[in-house]
Amino acid sequence: MLKSGTCPKCESDEVYSGATIPLKKGPFGSNSIPISLTSIAALDNYVCTRCGYIERYVCDAEKLTEITEKWSKVTAGESSAAETTK
Ligand SMILES: [Zn+2]
Repeated sequence: MLKSGTCPKCESDEVYSGATIPLKKGPFGSNSIPISLTSIAALDNYVCTRCGYIERYVCDAEKLTEITEKWSKVTAGESSAAETTK
């Protein structure tokens, strides 16, 4: 993963983090995702400058907790019932 400083796509170590840029919580919410009607979570971007691959992370622990309360959990195997052996 890019967070570890290595690109999973091209294995380059040319990885840069936008975790500390001031714009991530800007007025337009351009680098955030909606959690609910009244809540958004800012994202940290990690970019591989060799191949352009991007990973984004929600860094705020409170927002992560909020997501577990308000979003639907994706259950492993639910969308591929044919593969279930039980
Ligand atoms: Zn890369």
